[in-house]
Amino acid sequence: MEHDPSSPNRRSQTRRQSDSARRYLDVEATTPALRSTVELAARSVGFAIAQLNVLDDATQYTLVNIGGPPVSTVERSTTLCDDVVRSGKSAVVTRNRVDATVRQRDILDRNGVASYASVPLRGREGLVIGTLCLLDRMSRELTEGQMQELEQYGSVLEEQLDLHRRVGSTSAKLDGDNDLAGALFAGQIVPWFQPIVDLGTGSTVGFEALARWHHPTRGLVSPADFVPFAEASELIIDIDLEVLRLAVKEAEAWHEHRPDLRLSVNLSGRHLAHPDAVTQLQSALAHSSVPAHRISLELTESSAVSDGPLIRRHIDDVHALGFRVLLDDFGSGWSSLERLVTLEPDGVKIDGQLTKFIDTDRGRALVRALSSVAKDLGLVMVIEGIETRAQADIALELGCTLAQGFLWSRPLSAAAVRRSIEAL
Ligand code: C2E
Ligand code: MG
Ligand code: MG
Repeated sequence: MEHDPSSPNRRSQTRRQSDSARRYLDVEATTPALRSTVELAARSVGFAIAQLNVLDDATQYTLVNIGGPPVSTVERSTTLCDDVVRSGKSAVVTRNRVDATVRQRDILDRNGVASYASVPLRGREGLVIGTLCLLDRMSRELTEGQMQELEQYGSVLEEQLDLHRRVGSTSAKLDGDNDLAGALFAGQIVPWFQPIVDLGTGSTVGFEALARWHHPTRGLVSPADFVPFAEASELIIDIDLEVLRLAVKEAEAWHEHRPDLRLSVNLSGRHLAHPDAVTQLQSALAHSSVPAHRISLELTESSAVSDGPLIRRHIDDVHALGFRVLLDDFGSGWSSLERLVTLEPDGVKIDGQLTKFIDTDRGRALVRALSSVAKDLGLVMVIEGIETRAQADIALELGCTLAQGFLWSRPLSAAAVRRSIEAL
């Protein structure tokens, strides 16, 4: 399957795409993780059939097939995924749509389905190598939100495919279901990113890195399912540092287009209580062009440590290096007003649990009071968990300036963020 590397310039786009795609055909070890992602994608939008397809120049290979008749390969030109790979754009085709072409209707009929939805998947070379494709016997339309959800599942698949290409079957050989240390070593813990926006203008001012575990059999695992375990030991420190290192690499790429973008990372309280905390943070940036003053450290809850003089001293030291320090989950009980005085952070993040009450009298009064405290003390304040336009409007009216939430975007994979920044 190797092609003559001495004449890369003469290869057409299709040929390069095809070469890239073929690198993903030997992914037997990935089946359980890929299957669960494809299955979840189908379930999330209620389609009966879902496939992960890789397309080279002649053939469509179905690597995962949920709910459909067993197929492994078909001629590429007879598929709807051919169009998606060519255009690089997501597509929905239904038999009922007036704009469906004769060819499209014909392909739907031949497969015994009435609806097709598909998102392109990119490989490490940045070219489209295949699709996450959903089929259903009923005629269905998808909302914009559902398409975004599918695109997220597409991002997960891209990362899972990439991971297996990078580390091969090691990830499948890990012992046990919760071998977090092994997962970290195998590169399975990676940052996803959620935009932080200026409430006044709606423009993105930075991203928060949020850890995700690409588990070989369980698919994409959220921090709620592994951070608490990691918090029980110093493993959380290794996770935080790995997320920081990987996130900083991404920030370097963003800065080629948007040097103003900030990066926020989460730091367990345990971390700042460690004697080497400051040196570790410093060395995580050692070979990077991202200056510390573009980075915010969000101090998250850690029941295992209480604030002591060492934490306070470390906060002073990281300040001296240029980092910003924010108290995360402010207003959720743990992050108390007292810490504003004792730790002297640069800012707070208002917890999503409080944001939920922003449309009540008490919620409004609290957020107004907090934003006034922030203003008086010259603190940065970010309000989290904004899900609706109404909440955003109230937050702005109450004096909040920065926000984060599903209203603008859910957390996205590193590749999806890079693409969105390049497209700006
Ligand atoms: P956090 O730092 O407060 O991050 C915000 C969480 O709220 C994220 O959950 C995010 O996906 C979610 N979120 C954002 N917008 C909305 C919204 O509009 N509505 C709702 N309902 N949720 C929203 P995620 O990614 O599951 O992270 C959960 C927590 O895990 C984080 O809370 C943080 O405390 C911890 N965490 C994540 N990554 C790391 C890490 O690298 N290190 C450490 N120590 N903790 C981490
Ligand atoms: Mg946070
Ligand atoms: Mg928070």
